[in-house]
Amino acid sequence: MFHAFLLKYAEIGLKGKNRHVFEDALVKEVARKLDKVDGEFEVSRINGRIYVEAKSEYDFDEAVEAMKHVFGVVGICPVTHVEDQSPEGVIKAAVKFIEDNYPDRNFSFKVDTRRANKNYPMLSMEMDASAGEAILNAFPETHVDVHNPEVVLHIELRADIFMYSKMIKGAGGLPLGTNGRALLLLSGGFDSPVAGYMVARRGVYLDAVYFNAPPYTSERAKQKVINLAEVLSEYCGKIRLHIINFTDIQMAIYQKCPHDELTIIMRRYMMKIAQHIAENTKDCLGLVTGESIGQVASQTMKSLFATDDAADLPVYRPLIGFDKQDIIDKAEEIKTADISILPYEDCCTIFVAKHPVTKPNLNVIKCSEQRLNDVIDELMQKAIETDEVITVGKD
Ligand code: ATP
Ligand code: MG
Repeated sequence: MFHAFLLKYAEIGLKGKNRHVFEDALVKEVARKLDKVDGEFEVSRINGRIYVEAKSEYDFDEAVEAMKHVFGVVGICPVTHVEDQSPEGVIKAAVKFIEDNYPDRNFSFKVDTRRANKNYPMLSMEMDASAGEAILNAFPETHVDVHNPEVVLHIELRADIFMYSKMIKGAGGLPLGTNGRALLLLSGGFDSPVAGYMVARRGVYLDAVYFNAPPYTSERAKQKVINLAEVLSEYCGKIRLHIINFTDIQMAIYQKCPHDELTIIMRRYMMKIAQHIAENTKDCLGLVTGESIGQVASQTMKSLFATDDAADLPVYRPLIGFDKQDIIDKAEEIKTADISILPYEDCCTIFVAKHPVTKPNLNVIKCSEQRLNDVIDELMQKAIETDEVITVGKD
């Protein structure tokens, strides 16, 4: 029934002179996502809106799902074309639209016409009134409420004429590629995939790094992270996932450093390796983690202070103020939760201390790290050499 969609975007409308850059990025992203849907679509820009027209038969649900994955799109409005462009034809189409789309017509409504074609033989206010009256006459169970209507029938008078009344919620944010690139520290839990999503949603391309510790962590744990990256890539496009063998570093820390400081020290070396990878990745300007204040001992303010010190690049922590339940809710929404919940061991859980420090002192930590002096440079170098890059998703 719907041949086309009108896509609404909010914030990128505010970008002044750069607006066309954002709009072009959005058109490109919408087209890219629709590429994977059966059917042919044409995506274009008209008067500050994005317009998607189906040029063939297509699957409605699949197309909507694809567009829901495009950052920058606030709303997806399925629109119906009007063949007979005369005022009488449009009014008739308005009545039919209500009939077709609303089996239960006990609602208040108003008609809202936009007359982009300034030569159209009827003014927008006249169209509002005439179409409204025709709907009232056809369906006496409806009533008009111009201030707080339950249904707004939008009529667009352009070279093409179309109407719509429903808006499906989009992902929001900013189109991918309008804000550079960041490296996500991706583990198998709930938090880091959501953190990556939040940053990507602001227009940032992602690469990712996962530290594994074979044989203490299994192939299944690694596959879980790959699967998470795949789900993320449906939103974020291509992700290069770096897999680093962290076992020897972890063992050295375990053997030489105080056990209550293990997690913090380990985290600091993860940061250092991540920083190295980021520096060797074009346009990569920051690291992203799934930390939130106080969630676990390694995420108190003092712990974050100690972790942060290990990297020079900015570390983005988009979940910093989230409660765990908020994070899980978001993970369910973006479809990473079903994978995150699988119980495979993480490299951090194997070497955790029973009573980790919750208030690490950075100087004390640095002092403990000196016990690694004779081995750490070589171990870091070796770990970096294990880098296995798996590319998931497409550009
Ligand atoms: P997550 O749900 O993301 O695993 P978490 O609650 O388990 O987080 P921690 O284990 O304390 O939290 O890890 C904090 C952050 O450090 C993670 O969100 C992630 O960004 C990063 N991190 C932890 N372990 C790894 C790993 N093995 N590989 C890559 N990044 C990791
Ligand atoms: Mg974890």
